[in-house]
Amino acid sequence: MRKINFSAGPSALPYEVVEKMSEAMIDFEGSGVGIGEISHRSKEFLSIMEEAKSLVRELLEVPEGYSILFLHGGATLHFLMTAMNLMKKDGRAGYLNSGTWAAKAMKEASMVGEVVEVASSKADGYTYIPKGYTIPSDIDYFHCTSNNTIYGTQIKEFPECPVTYVCDMSSDIFSRRIDVSKFDLIYAGAQKNVGPAGVTLVIVRDEILGKTGRDIPYVLDYQQHIKAGSMYNTPCCMAVYMSVLNMRHLKARGGVAVAETYNREKAQMLYDEIDRNSMFRGVVTVKEDRSDMNVTFVLNEPEKYSERFAELCEEAAIREVKGHRSVGGYRVSLYNAMTKENVQVLIDVMQKLEQEK
Ligand SMILES: *Cc1c(COP(=O)(O)O)cnc(C)c1O
Repeated sequence: MRKINFSAGPSALPYEVVEKMSEAMIDFEGSGVGIGEISHRSKEFLSIMEEAKSLVRELLEVPEGYSILFLHGGATLHFLMTAMNLMKKDGRAGYLNSGTWAAKAMKEASMVGEVVEVASSKADGYTYIPKGYTIPSDIDYFHCTSNNTIYGTQIKEFPECPVTYVCDMSSDIFSRRIDVSKFDLIYAGAQKNVGPAGVTLVIVRDEILGKTGRDIPYVLDYQQHIKAGSMYNTPCCMAVYMSVLNMRHLKARGGVAVAETYNREKAQMLYDEIDRNSMFRGVVTVKEDRSDMNVTFVLNEPEKYSERFAELCEEAAIREVKGHRSVGGYRVSLYNAMTKENVQVLIDVMQKLEQEK
């Protein structure tokens, strides 16, 4: 039996996608071989790679002048690659320190050059999104994280940026409309809202590349990957294909705008319950910064009720209602594939816990 999966990533995918993928493991689109076995240079797979790019272009309305890549290494490798490709020799870059992933991106970039912390909410446990800061105009680029997967905060209004604009959108890409033209480089590990782990989506404005004056190892050079059409080395064919299945599914559902409305309402259902239910409280202090993707909360008396809450979740076939190992508490992830019906099952469990008190 398939359970209700609130995992933060890798995370639930639509059943139709999983089903089609399981068929493709045996016979990929009538090719007579499985998707885990087919040559990445075969005409069948080349056409999937093309479709992957055109679906991203269409779903996110990516303007002319941007390249779309499907690469290895997860978002983590792009913490380094963005710095190597955009930070000038003796240059510096500005970062918004809004969570663990942002801090990790800063750590990698500091191996390449000087990192300036433009603003931070670290001292307050990353419980809100910093605002009202000024992005210096003498930095090579500014980097922010659109959604802080671990803490459950999300940038609702992106700041205007006077320099090259880089954003880690790993945990909310395709969940809401974004104006791609505002950004110069967007990257996202697939396993939150694109597909399975094993591939990272990169959307980059071509004209920002090749200007650092430094030698970039080929494998870390976005221009090499663009030239090779995301096949500088063997791509993860399975992950690219499953991402295509998921993007086809999103398109058939009405695209990102439809998903955005649904996601907003879905998250609100759970936030309303957290605010109403006397057993729980939310952990994000500024309500407007609450993420529609990752909802974080705690029990008011965990020592008394956490065991029973876990039991009730298990009885309802719910998995992964737990905070990141670094912060504890509870986190429920509500990416595109999560339905309102399944969120209601969790709400029923929360109400049952309160009634038992
Ligand atoms: C999960 C996540 C990462 C790390 O992704 P990997 O694919 O494991 O490297 C980075 N940034 C954000 C915002 C994430 O949610």
